[in-house]
Amino acid sequence: MTESESREYEYDLIVVGGGSGGLAASKRAAELGKKVAVLDFVKPTPKGTTWGLGGTCVNVGCIPKKLMHQTALLGKSIKDAKAFGWDVDPSSVKLNWSNMVLAVQDYIGSLNWGYRVQLRDKKVNYVNAYGTLEDAHIIKTVNRRGKETKMSAEKFIIAVGERPKYPDIPGAKEYSITSDDLFSLPYCPGKTLAIGASYVSLECAGFLKGIGLDVSVMVRSIFLRGFDQQMAEKVGSYLEQEGVTIYRKYVPVKIEQIAEGEPGLYRVTAKNTETGEEITEEYNTVVIAIGRESATKSIGLENAGVVYNSKGNGKIPVNDEEQTNVPNIYSVGDNLEGKPELTPMAIQTGRILAERLFGGSTIKSDYDNVPTTVFTPLEYSCCGLSEEDAVERFDEENIEVYHSNLWPLEWSVPGHSSNTCYAKVICNLKDSERVIGIHYLGPNAGEVMQGFSAAMKCGITKRQLDATIGIHPTTAEIFTTLTATKRSGDSIEQNGC
Ligand code: FAD
Ligand code: NDP
Repeated sequence: MTESESREYEYDLIVVGGGSGGLAASKRAAELGKKVAVLDFVKPTPKGTTWGLGGTCVNVGCIPKKLMHQTALLGKSIKDAKAFGWDVDPSSVKLNWSNMVLAVQDYIGSLNWGYRVQLRDKKVNYVNAYGTLEDAHIIKTVNRRGKETKMSAEKFIIAVGERPKYPDIPGAKEYSITSDDLFSLPYCPGKTLAIGASYVSLECAGFLKGIGLDVSVMVRSIFLRGFDQQMAEKVGSYLEQEGVTIYRKYVPVKIEQIAEGEPGLYRVTAKNTETGEEITEEYNTVVIAIGRESATKSIGLENAGVVYNSKGNGKIPVNDEEQTNVPNIYSVGDNLEGKPELTPMAIQTGRILAERLFGGSTIKSDYDNVPTTVFTPLEYSCCGLSEEDAVERFDEENIEVYHSNLWPLEWSVPGHSSNTCYAKVICNLKDSERVIGIHYLGPNAGEVMQGFSAAMKCGITKRQLDATIGIHPTTAEIFTTLTATKRSGDSIEQNGC
């Protein structure tokens, strides 16, 4: 028995961070009969926004984002409804921002409560305090009243998630907000600039435009870095088509306050990254969405000897068992270096890790073929490789790309374009046309991709996809009837069903 195994610790496991990954790990470990504590503490944003138990997804991520996206979609549906015969006046359709925030926050409150009850029922000790490691087995906790306590554990899981980054320019922290503030903002943001061109920026810009606001997006380089760029461009073009102003190749230089208020008025100066040309424009709200940084820099990882990216994004390198360089300290979720930053990934990794640590399991997390959806006005979902990555990995001559535009039936009556939505399947010619990437741009994208991602896990080939009977009339059925390849140049235009 090693020295550490012979020592007595208060807990078998302490999880630092009660978000998607941390809650999943702590609940599973407790179900397996272990003595577990989970620490969760939210440091307020520069604007003072704070929230309850459950982490980013529940409070300031997936949940409020999807509900506000749904709010925007409903507005659009009300307008479509007239074309279907509903006796509504689309010009009178207006959103009450405060009512939306109240409804969304009420639901979040019920989730926060639900998590507390689950932890209590499973006998996980929930400690609403900020944790800082003192060494590899002891953590200091400080609650909101400043009360300090020390707790010890045989094992730790670090799951402290991420927080938004701010650009290093004058006025950024004083005069802007982030997604951490947006979903509970007590007043309508008015004319808004979203800075950044990835998931958070485009999704926020999308729903704000959808509820009727004047919205601009500042894109430093490309849309949705890391995603298939043909699809990313289509997502960006649709935003533009919906009336979002896009500033391409611009970065902010300074933000100044013109008037106080809720919302106030701010002047943003931005510079073109190629020509250096400067432009200024005034906005009621500036949403910074230039990426997120792991909240690992003030949690005492150094004291425990844990190696992490202390000078950069704060990520923690782990082996294929989510173990850090310190054997009794593990990490899951957004803190992991080079892994998807998605809630279901964090949950599954947390649960599987607890089962390996305490349940005798040998199953490891599989980070391949993780599906995802970007909830922009026209939703985009994908699983597997982008076309760029497929070409890089297998060479262009070894891949076949099947594609088609598609026309959702529900778009026909209101007269929406028949050639905006799009589907693409990328296959490996050297491996029985195994599907290595699926991409979909259209309504209900997440719902469409979920089943296909299961098929990809099972190694589906194009032949099996072709042998699958479609469900008519749906948009997903397009994947069972794709014949045109990019190589052939055959038409992919749609005229009807
Ligand atoms: P988190 O959920 O961030 O939880 C970490 C918790 O630890 C937080 O509560 C934090 O306050 C707490 N904490 C930090 N430091 C300490 C400390 N020292 N002591 C105690 N507690 C501490 N993913 C999707 O799959 N689908 C989506 O649609 C989606 N939408 C998103 C939208 C937005 C705007 C954002 C920002 C993210 C979105 N994500 C989405 C990503 C998803 O939210 C994250 O991948 C997920 O929450 C990560 O879980 P986690 O457990 O790693 O961390
Ligand atoms: P990302 O790191 O993915 O993107 C950051 C964006 O900001 C990029 O467009 C980047 O541009 C731009 N940027 C970076 N620095 C600057 C700067 N100084 N000035 C101007 N622009 C800048 O961050 P997100 O916050 O959007 O997303 C974080 C993670 O959260 C994602 O990886 C995702 O996993 C998760 N998430 C998931 C969602 C979902 O599942 N639907 C929704 C939202 C988030 P450039 O390309 O030039 O570097």
